[in-house]
Order: sequence, then structure tokens, then C-alpha cells
Amino acid sequence: MPFKALNLSDSVLRGVQAAGYTDPTPIQLRAIPVVLGGGDLIASAQTGTGKTAAFALPILTRLGSHSRVRVLVLEPTRELAAQVETAFRDFARFTDIRPVAIFGGVGYGSQRAELKRGVDIIVATPGRLMDYLKEGTISLRDISILVLDEVDRMLDMGFLPVVKDIIARCPRERQTLFFSATVPPEIAAVASFALRNPTRVEIGVARSVTASVNHALYPVAAEQKFELLEAMLAKINFDSVLVFSRTKHGADKIARRLKTANHSVAVLHANRSQNQRIEALAGFKSGKYEVMVATDIAARGIDVAGVSHVINYDVPEKPEDYVHRIGRTGRAQAVGDAFTLVTPENAGDIRDIERFIGQKIPELKLEGFPYKAFTSRPAQAQEQRPRGSLPGQIRHKGSFNRFRSRR
Ligand code: AMP
Repeated sequence: MPFKALNLSDSVLRGVQAAGYTDPTPIQLRAIPVVLGGGDLIASAQTGTGKTAAFALPILTRLGSHSRVRVLVLEPTRELAAQVETAFRDFARFTDIRPVAIFGGVGYGSQRAELKRGVDIIVATPGRLMDYLKEGTISLRDISILVLDEVDRMLDMGFLPVVKDIIARCPRERQTLFFSATVPPEIAAVASFALRNPTRVEIGVARSVTASVNHALYPVAAEQKFELLEAMLAKINFDSVLVFSRTKHGADKIARRLKTANHSVAVLHANRSQNQRIEALAGFKSGKYEVMVATDIAARGIDVAGVSHVINYDVPEKPEDYVHRIGRTGRAQAVGDAFTLVTPENAGDIRDIERFIGQKIPELKLEGFPYKAFTSRPAQAQEQRPRGSLPGQIRHKGSFNRFRSRR
């Protein structure tokens, strides 16, 4: 079914066309009619499935043209708020509807100026929004559509109390759209408080790994992790690589070492200033940096077209973060590769991840790497290799030149 058959307004359809989308993704097919019909929605969809357009397109159609603040979208991180606001802006380019992004870590001046000019859609992180609500700069009395995005992430970040407070400040008569990869009891409680007779949409079950991602484990001794990371970077044919670290300190350390080894590197974690975060993400998107080292703050929802590889320098703490991290590659049908360095101490974490995603992750060895120790399940290494990779190899060596030439 093409977008045309979905009853979106003509100007929104033009926006979709300009974005280069031809066919709706499964979540768009399922969610757009529900949102257009005015009903509440609770959706679990993996990031990378086209979730943003699934709510943005019907919302823009429902709004029609510019008037008052009628839509509030809550996002857990500043990056997501900025990204979702940009998506709204892109899709709305043939309308006079005005979105604004409201998040912390930056000055109040330009946000206040935009609010003063008049906006229709506020895409916000909870903390900064609360500042404006308390001082009376923003009123939620005309909100007719409330979107709670990545609610499980908001729970992780401790935002649920303020989210509940914000929900309570919205009119009761409204449409609520609720997105959460997982629905633990605390979140189910928020859903039942915020939603009325919601339609449930479950796409690509949050536990599953996007089919277009090849993923593999690379067992290595702890003291050789950095060496292996460097050897991988030298071998793979990559456009841009996201390297995940468990800790902020770890991310800084990896970035420093990669810089010393002449890689162009950006770092993204919560202790960086907002300007540093914006610069890192923009530089990574534009290709200025070929490697971005990040903590899990970057694992959710951040859309960087062309992340060709994800390398988990550290195994994620929570099994669901594995799915989110490797979801950064292989987005919207492009094939991506995701590699996880595992040390013998990670055996339990890997078992949890495999149980969570319902599949065994193949193990590989990097050819030519001077391994000091190679642990756990070596027998699998030859058989269960990911599609498109040769045993013991990540892509081919010719890539090395391309990587070098980009410096
Ligand atoms: P999201 O899950 O909203 O973060 O979207 C993931 C990526 O898929 C983004 O780069 C979108 O621009 C892209 N995308 C979303 N919907 C479509 C579509 N119907 N066709 C092609 N790309 C899409």
C-alpha cells in the first residue's frame, strides 16, 4: 500500500515525497490509521522501524494549519528531541505548522523567542519543559495530542515522576500515543493512567535484532580489547562506526587512545556539554568524524544515516540495550554489521542477551590477530558466521585503503 492510500493530507504527502520515502514501513501502515482516527495508541516498535513518521505524519495531517500549541512530544534525551523535531520540520515543510525543540543544556533565549513567535508542536525533554511550565512560559491547556516516546528510556533515566506530572497538566480530553520498547510494571502503570482504550501495535518485537544486521561476538582477553578494536578498525570496510562503552570514563579513554592512533573521533555521553554533544553528533553525521564513541545515551533512537558498523567495546549491561545498540546500524533496510568484544567475565551477560533475543550470537575470530587467549565456544566460530562475512574475517582487506583515504 503506498502512502497515498493512507489518507494523509496532500501537503504532508508532499513532505513524505520530499523525504524520499516511497512505501510505508509496517509500523506506519498499522499506526497511521489509528492516529488519524483519533484513538489512543500503545506501540512497541524497535527504533529504526520508521516510528517517528508513524506518529508525525498523521499528527501533521490532523493539525492542518498553524494555530496554537496543540501537540506535546516527550523524549528522553536532547538528541532525540532535536531529531524528532527535525523530522516534524521536514515533513511539515509544505505546511505552515511550526514545531519547536525544547531541551536543557542550552540557553533559554532562542527557545523563548520561538515560543513567542508561536508554535504548534513542542518536542521536549521533561526537565526543561518543566522549567517553562513552572514559570508559565508554556501552557498545555490546548494540547490535543500527547506523544510519550521511548517511555522505557524515560524510566531508566528517572524521568517518570516528572513525566506523570506533565501528563497530569494536559487536558483529559486528548489523544495519547505511547511508545516503549518494553513494558515493565512501572510503565504499564503509566500507560493505564495516561491512555484510554488504546489500540496495541507491536512491530518487529523489541526483542528481535533487525534482520538486516549481521552480528557476532569476538572473544578476547580483557587486556587485548583495545588492540582488537584497533585491528578491527584497520580491517573493516566502514563508512562510520559507533563504538559503545559502558561508562563515560571508559568512552573518554577509548576516544583518547583512538585519537592517538590517528582516527577522527567524536565522543557522546551525558557528561559532555550540550554544545559538545551537538558538535559530536553533527560531525559524525557529516563524516567529519569516522568513529563515535558513546555510552548508551546514544543507543536509543539516534538516527545517523550510514552507521555501517557498531562495535560494542563493552558488553551492554542490560540485554535490551544490546538490541538498541545494534539497531543503530542496519536501519531502514540497509545491511549493517555489529560486533561485540567479549571477555571471559562477560559469559553470563552474553547468556542473558542470547536468552533475551532468542538466538545464539555467532562467535568469530579476527584473522591474523595475535590472540593471547581465545575463550568460550570456539567450535561455533566456523559454522555460525553472519551472512556476508567470511569465517574469521570482517569483510575484506581492500577496505583498508578507503578508510585511510578518508582521513
Ligand atoms: P525511526 O525509526 O523513526 O528512527 O526511523 C528510522 C529511519 O528510517 C530514519 O532514517 C527514517 O528517515 C527512515 N524511514 C522512516 N520511514 C521510512 C519509509 N517509509 N521509507 C524509507 N525510510 C524511512
